[in-house]
Amino acid sequence: MITCTKCGEKNSDDTLYCTRCKKKLQSSHRSSAQGQQQPEPLRTFKHEGVPVDAWRSIMRMVEAWAYVLVLAGVAVGCAYTKTWWPMYPAVGLLGLLIWFRQV
Ligand SMILES: [Zn+2]
Repeated sequence: MITCTKCGEKNSDDTLYCTRCKKKLQSSHRSSAQGQQQPEPLRTFKHEGVPVDAWRSIMRMVEAWAYVLVLAGVAVGCAYTKTWWPMYPAVGLLGLLIWFRQV
């Protein structure tokens, strides 16, 4: 059910124009067939943030990569020595670290 913003007439969902005043109706659900109201893609990073925030996000990304590299290093070391037990504390420790950083 779509309520007309101009006259308040209630129209069914598939109606494009108000049955009373012929005003174009704003559908509550996005219709891909129309493609007129393209929703803006969700922004993962705030562009309008202050430089400190940008720096922090960069540092966080560097940190995340450092974790990945450490984990990759441990994995390579494990594969080389054929001993896999160091993987468990390494993964656990890194998981804990990442979890701590994101809280
Ligand atoms: Zn209307």
